[in-house]
Amino acid sequence: MHDRAELEHKIKKLEQELAQKSDFISIMVHQLRTPLAALKWTFKMMLDGDLGSMTETQRGIVARGLDSSNQMIHLLADVSAANHVSDWTMHLNPEPMDPVPCIASIVKEFSEEAKSKKINLSFETNEPLPRVMADRERACLVLQNLIENAIKYNRPGGSAIVRAEVFREKLVVSVHDTGIGIPLPEQKNIFSKFFRAENAKSHDKGTGLGLYVGKQIIEGMGGAMWFESEMGIGSTFFFSLPLTK
Ligand code: ADP
Repeated sequence: MHDRAELEHKIKKLEQELAQKSDFISIMVHQLRTPLAALKWTFKMMLDGDLGSMTETQRGIVARGLDSSNQMIHLLADVSAANHVSDWTMHLNPEPMDPVPCIASIVKEFSEEAKSKKINLSFETNEPLPRVMADRERACLVLQNLIENAIKYNRPGGSAIVRAEVFREKLVVSVHDTGIGIPLPEQKNIFSKFFRAENAKSHDKGTGLGLYVGKQIIEGMGGAMWFESEMGIGSTFFFSLPLTK
């Protein structure tokens, strides 16, 4: 049996070690990024002919170098994002908040982006909605990611609809889109760290972290996150939040 003080001491020590490791990764990512960027631009200058002409064979080899350095730059971005996952999911601070102004302002924030991609983005609700218990900053992050995805994995002329309603003593927020959908065999993996469905990879860039982090944040606040999707037809992502007592 550990007594409470001993346990607390151990947890503190582990947290310190974790923070040190996280700092080390941040420094490493930063140190690797600079020479990699230099490498990338060197390959690019060669391909653009800035350093003189090349044979087709030489161009092929340099192009492979450029591809590899781009891949490594993306990998570093993923490592850096994963390193910050715990910053987003730990130490949640739920407090009573009014959901409507918050949702409306995020929808407004994305309206220009949606317009430029010819997606009709809207927010539907039957006001008034009750207050919820949520960490405002993190809840916003989750909704931002869902709206971003509804625009990103959509097609010109498509739509994205954000809805909010009370269901079984919880507030349920949903983001519906008429986009590319998620292939059925891959649906079980959608909340896994770094997972990206095959049809998404050819559609747009991403890290496969947003949904993983989002689900942890929502569950950490006493809610749930789930989705429905049909390949080629669209998807709806839902999350619930507890109401204030
Ligand atoms: P990212 O968008 O950076 O890849 P996410 O964690 O937000 O990361 O999403 C993980 C994967 O889930 C995406 O790569 C995509 O395959 C799928 N996905 C998420 N949202 C949608 C959506 N609205 N429509 C279709 N696929 C989606």
